[in-house]
Amino acid sequence: MNKPLHNEFTRYDTDSLLTITNRPPLVFTEGQGMWLTDHNGKRYLDYLQGWAVNCLGHSPACIQQALVEQSAKVINPSPAFYNEPSIALASLLTKNSCFDRVFFANSGAEANEGAIKLARKWGKLHKNAAGENRYEIITFDHSFHGRTLATMSASGKAGWGSMFAPQVPGFTHAHLNDLASVAALITNKTVAVMLEPVQGEGGVIPATKEFMQGLRALTEKHGLLLIVDEVQAGMGRTGKLFAYELSDIEPDIMTLGKGIGGGVPLSALLCKEKYACFEPGDQGGTYNGNPLMTAVGLAVLNTLLAPGFLQSVIDKGAYLQSGLEKLSAKHGMEGERGEGLLRALKLGSDIGGKIVEMARDMEPVGLLLNSPRPDLLRFMPALNLSIGEIDQMLEMLDEVVKIIKS
Ligand SMILES: *Cc1c(COP(=O)(O)O)cnc(C)c1O
Repeated sequence: MNKPLHNEFTRYDTDSLLTITNRPPLVFTEGQGMWLTDHNGKRYLDYLQGWAVNCLGHSPACIQQALVEQSAKVINPSPAFYNEPSIALASLLTKNSCFDRVFFANSGAEANEGAIKLARKWGKLHKNAAGENRYEIITFDHSFHGRTLATMSASGKAGWGSMFAPQVPGFTHAHLNDLASVAALITNKTVAVMLEPVQGEGGVIPATKEFMQGLRALTEKHGLLLIVDEVQAGMGRTGKLFAYELSDIEPDIMTLGKGIGGGVPLSALLCKEKYACFEPGDQGGTYNGNPLMTAVGLAVLNTLLAPGFLQSVIDKGAYLQSGLEKLSAKHGMEGERGEGLLRALKLGSDIGGKIVEMARDMEPVGLLLNSPRPDLLRFMPALNLSIGEIDQMLEMLDEVVKIIKS
């Protein structure tokens, strides 16, 4: 049946959108740095920042400028041809990491799909001796790698995705920071181990340096690839440009997302030269490496590389850490954990949801927080926030917790 054409809408037509998350009845119309403004003009201090995406805050000048300048030049000549921003960004990423080759994609899940494919193909090419067929990847309990079929199967969220069965085969799950649990899963089908150096969605759980080093030795011993998913922990979030640097190891493959685009859809798969086994046609997509997004990525990376920037992330992370520790002690909570500006407060009871709601509804300004588990709050502010914006958040949080505990 043909419907008449409409060109009217209101911002309250939310029923037209598929429900994919529980959204509060707010429409955000503007963002600047650490602040969002809703349709009523109320301001919110934003400690989600698009889930660690806006590493330079909302609408930073360098991203606006990159978008304006690049969109006037060329937006998408297609991945069939080279473009300048992609070459420049890939070059800077390899010069500042242990990797040699870069493939750009549009989301963290897509970069991880690429990593899984690369590992499987490398296994087929190099690990097929004596009739072996190595394709299995060991991942970890509570890990999160994305919402496509393969990355859902790779993720270690218990019971997640059962409605979308059958799962993509080829993933087994070990326990983070438990090397013996990884060793126990290695078979003649294993090709790689994949992990987040700091589990994000799982509740900000860092892999220890000792574990990362043990994993590197174990994978080397068995001829397995070590893949780090730095979609959340990479790009300066921990105070290092890449989180693997915290443990002085060199992984074989890495994925980046979220912060790499500072708010626009951009992700990347990086690998060492000897694992760069994709051939024409194996991997790609209409928007991969389009210059509009990679020009933004270049502007973001140049900001992170400026002298003193990463040190300021370490300093502000330490400041946030001590503030959270004080808050925890004051309210009898169970402390905090994290790296750099990816941190979590262990609430000691299931008040996370209540805190998120009350903090959001505070007047005259609200506070946006995330509770990945009922007993935990996660903090992932812009990396360039001010000390004052840390103090203000801690005061507001203290206020909310006082009311809840009274
Ligand atoms: C967010 C996230 C992903 C998925 O990224 P999308 O861009 O949402 O597809 C994958 N891995 C980790 C560690 C993440 O935090």
